[in-house]
Amino acid sequence: MSTICAISTPNAVGGISVIRISGEDAVNIAEKIFVPFSKTPVSQMNGHTCAYGKVVYNKKTIDDAVLTIFLAPKSYTGENVAEISCHGGIFVTKEVLRACIESGAEPAEPGEFTKRAFLNGKLSLTQAEAVMDVISAEGRQALNSANLAHEGMLFKRIKNTTDNLVSILAELAAWVDYPEEDLPSVENGALTLSLNTAISQLSQILCDYDSGLIFREGIDTAIVGRANVGKSSLMNMLLGFDRSIVTDIAGTTRDVIEESARLGEIVLKLSDTAGIRQTDDKVESLGVDLAMKKLANSRLIMAVFDASEELTTEDIKLLDEIKDKQCIIVLNKTDLTSKISSRDFAKYNKPVVMVSAKEQNGKKDLENVILSLFKLDNLNSDTTIFTNERQKNCVEKAKNNLELALNALEFGETLDAVTVTISKACDFLLELTGEKATEAVVDQVFHNFCVGK
Ligand code: GDP
Repeated sequence: MSTICAISTPNAVGGISVIRISGEDAVNIAEKIFVPFSKTPVSQMNGHTCAYGKVVYNKKTIDDAVLTIFLAPKSYTGENVAEISCHGGIFVTKEVLRACIESGAEPAEPGEFTKRAFLNGKLSLTQAEAVMDVISAEGRQALNSANLAHEGMLFKRIKNTTDNLVSILAELAAWVDYPEEDLPSVENGALTLSLNTAISQLSQILCDYDSGLIFREGIDTAIVGRANVGKSSLMNMLLGFDRSIVTDIAGTTRDVIEESARLGEIVLKLSDTAGIRQTDDKVESLGVDLAMKKLANSRLIMAVFDASEELTTEDIKLLDEIKDKQCIIVLNKTDLTSKISSRDFAKYNKPVVMVSAKEQNGKKDLENVILSLFKLDNLNSDTTIFTNERQKNCVEKAKNNLELALNALEFGETLDAVTVTISKACDFLLELTGEKATEAVVDQVFHNFCVGK
C-alpha cells in the first residue's frame, strides 16, 4: 500500500499545524526532509518518540518543527506514521506538505488514515464513524455519545445481538442439515423468545437514532400565533438577543425569520412567522401563506397566545389547525393581569407553558416540556449512543428480517425459511460493524470524512 500524507489540522492560520505521513515509507520520507537537532537520526528513532529539528527541502529550511514517530503496528493507522508539527501558517504548512509529496508520499484521500486504521483492524466501522462524530459534536450529549461509540459501545451492543443470532443459526443449521440425527429439537418457544429479545434490542437502537437526530440536527420549530401576541419577543428571548423588530403594530413580521437557539442541550431551529390572520395587505398575506407552510412542515409548533386577553376567534381557529401537530401552547405576557389560564386549553390536550417574553421568564419550563415531549428527559448520557443514517438503515433491515422470521415461525413455515431470514438479519448487522461490509459501503463511509483524518 502506498505511503500517504495530508495536513491534519484545519486549513487556517493557527499556533501549530500537523502534517501526517502514514505507510511503509513514512519514516524514510520523514528522514529525507527532517534534520533533527539531536544526534539520533530519524531512521533510528523509536516508536512514540519525538525530535526537535528543521524541515529542509532542496537545501532550504522551511521551518523549525517537531517530528513524532509511531512504528507499525502501534499507531493510529496501524502503519508507520510520522507527524510533523510545524508553525501554523497556511503557506509554511503547505510547503511542508509539498516537501512530503515530492519526497515520495501521495496525497491522502478524505478519511484515508482512518480507513487504513479500519482495514488494519484498529477500529470497527462504527468506531471509525464515531471519530467523525467526535469531531462534529456540537453539544455534550452528542460528544458523550460519540465517545461511547468510539470506545466500541455500539459495536458491542450490535455484536451481542449478532452473537445470539449466530448461535440460533448454528442450532437451526444442525437441525436442518442433520434431521435424522438425534439432536434435541429446536424449541419454538425458546426461538421466539430469542428473536423477540433481538428485536427489542434493535428497537432501542432505533429509538436512540431519533433522539440523536434531534441532538445533532435540532428541532424545526415554528412560532405561530395571531399578530401581537409576542412571537418575535419570544424568539428574541430564546435567542438571547434581539433578532426581530418588536412593535405593537400588528403585521410587522412579514417574512419568516429563521435562527437557531440553544435551550440546554437542544438546538431549536426557530422560524418566527407572520401572525396568521386575514389581511388585505398583499405583502402580509404572502407572509401568512409562508407561515401556514411552516406550520405544516415543522416538527414542533410553539403556538403563542396573549394571556392578558380573552381568546379570539383567530386563536381558536389556530388551535384547531394545530390539533394533530406536536405542539406546545405558550401563554405569553403572564406579567400582565391574566384573562386566560391553562384551564382554557384543557380540551386541546397539549402541554401549556407560561412565559413572559418581556421579563424573560419561562425558558427553563419550555426546555423541560420539549425534553419530555421528545422523550429526551430519561436519556442516559452514560449509555446512549446515537447512530447515523447508514447504521440506522442496517438496524432497520435487520429488525424487519427478524420480524419476518418470527412470522414465519408463527405460521409454521419450514425452519429453512426461518433460517434464511435470520441469516439476512445477521448480514445486515455485520455490514453495520464492517465485519462483512462491501468495499462500496466502506468507501461510502469514509467519503464523508475530512482530508487528514
Ligand atoms: P408578534 O407580533 O406576535 O411578533 O409580537 P411582538 O413580539 O412584536 O410583541 C407585540 C407587543 O407585545 C410588543 O409591544 C411587545 O413589547 C409586547 N410584548 C411581547 N411580549 C410581552 C410580554 O411578555 N409582556 C408584556 N407586557 N408585553 C409583551
